[in-house]
Amino acid sequence: MTKGVLRHLPSVTELIETSPLKPLVDRISHNVVVDGVRSFLDDYRQEIDGVDQPVDIASVTQMAERIARRILRGERSSLRPVINATGILLHTGLGRAPLAEQAIEEMVTIARDYASLELDLRTGKRSNRFDAVEGLLCEITGAEAAAVVNNNAGATMLTLAALGSGREVIVSRGQLIEIGGSYRLPDVMQVSGACLREVGTTNKTREQDYENAICEKTAALMRVHPSNFMVVGFTAGVGLAELVRIGKKHRLPVIDDIGSGAITDLTPYGIRDEPLAAESIATGADVVLFSGDKLMGGPQSGIILGKRKEIERIVQHPMARALRVDKLTLAALGATLRLLRDPQQAAHQIPLLQLLATPNENLRLRAESIASQLQHVTGIAKAEAIEEEAFLGGGSVPTQQIKTWCVAIDLDTESLNSFHTRLRTGTPAVVGRVQKGQLLIDLRSVPPRQDAQIVLAISQCPISAPN
Ligand SMILES: *Cc1c(COP(=O)(O)O)cnc(C)c1O
Repeated sequence: MTKGVLRHLPSVTELIETSPLKPLVDRISHNVVVDGVRSFLDDYRQEIDGVDQPVDIASVTQMAERIARRILRGERSSLRPVINATGILLHTGLGRAPLAEQAIEEMVTIARDYASLELDLRTGKRSNRFDAVEGLLCEITGAEAAAVVNNNAGATMLTLAALGSGREVIVSRGQLIEIGGSYRLPDVMQVSGACLREVGTTNKTREQDYENAICEKTAALMRVHPSNFMVVGFTAGVGLAELVRIGKKHRLPVIDDIGSGAITDLTPYGIRDEPLAAESIATGADVVLFSGDKLMGGPQSGIILGKRKEIERIVQHPMARALRVDKLTLAALGATLRLLRDPQQAAHQIPLLQLLATPNENLRLRAESIASQLQHVTGIAKAEAIEEEAFLGGGSVPTQQIKTWCVAIDLDTESLNSFHTRLRTGTPAVVGRVQKGQLLIDLRSVPPRQDAQIVLAISQCPISAPN
């Protein structure tokens, strides 16, 4: 039965001549379209082969349309720009900090041609790829030397491998953090070859605990900023200054993982208790580690600052090569750092700081305007501006809440989740926050130029009928 049907399937040649597919041959490529047609026909044969009853075979045009949709879906990268209306400013799933225009321009310039990545153009000799950013990092933070690797997890692993392999690194039990599942300090330490020596308890660690643990196997003392949790109540910790004093006394380097890596003071933006890189250096930490794509607002990278002696040991370790950054990262990082030399300029040019600095009143007006435009969209029962709390995210303190305004959307009949899915998969993709049966469009993480796009995306997102 099905044998006869199979004989009637159109040929590849016939299909690529149809009106849905012919233009794709020119627009995409002959090979891509032919492959698409073949794989569709293979699937289609399997589909009808398993069926015993007589089947209605699709018309050639219907098939061509289905194939065209499949090819176009495949052409769209799964990595696409997103409007982040979650209110989480450093959303790891959405790529953390967006880059400043200057950083983007620098990346484009450096990407297009060859670049002086490891060539000193003055002497014609080989140079160090960190040269482009080391001077800036030292100028901004007061460090003696600096290096950059792929991310902070890499920076931590490399530092521990270079300074502590085969020996012990002392960390307080209150600082053995996990960040987003795949980053757990004890695991990173183990992979580095250094041995974790835990001291104190979850809630209290004293200077004496460090003193008692120091022995001939000790390689370093380490402090880790507990970025995403807080221990409150009956607590005691050892500050960096005390740790530095103990380190000096025993001639041991102190490593300070400050996590989010604030460069400028963020208290004017309502962000408190984030350690500053310059403060850590001034207090005397030998090595300071942080992410470049968190509060610094730059590209994904792991920044390593500190004393020349330690930085040299770190960059000379064989693992450094495996973690090194490319010219694009260095280009974006250099441009971001040039902006950060002047806090005023940084506040105006670095998107993360612009978003943080937007007055709440401004967000309220924008939320009200968007809500009124969505009011009459079919399927939307109610759209109103509400005051809410946004989050820093990216492994920062959960209590670090920032005032914000949202557009809260209630739907007539459709489920919120299916509506949200269609918003996420539309163009532009919009990701909001579902909270208490409403879809929130949080404007704290949205630049004003995207407001109109949000209105358009939501009003064009067809609300499907209930089942
Ligand atoms: C975020 C964070 C890390 C991991 O940094 P990545 O850049 O994501 O690799 C490590 N330590 C602390 C304290 C952090 O906050």
